[in-house]
Amino acid sequence: MNRKTRNNGGMPLPPMRRCIGCMTSRPKSEMVRIAVTDDGPVIDRSGRMDGRGIYICPDQACVDAAVKRKALQRVFRRAFDKADTERLFGEIITKC
Ligand SMILES: [Zn+2]
Repeated sequence: MNRKTRNNGGMPLPPMRRCIGCMTSRPKSEMVRIAVTDDGPVIDRSGRMDGRGIYICPDQACVDAAVKRKALQRVFRRAFDKADTERLFGEIITKC
């Protein structure tokens, strides 16, 4: 057997995370982490903030889907201020 394998045994795969909008797994580095603090959800640019985090693609379609499905409320099992989440998601989009 002398098959050439490209993606096997060489570089490790990047860590994958699932988007709360489109539910697709993508490399963590391509996504935005949202951490929930006592003050509400914030964008975690360092990726190291305390608290539970979720990931979303910096994509308008994913943001729309997440808002529509109330993904944040579901994941964190609590209600968020609508203005807070809108501002947060707005930041995700403008960031890119
Ligand atoms: Zn997505």
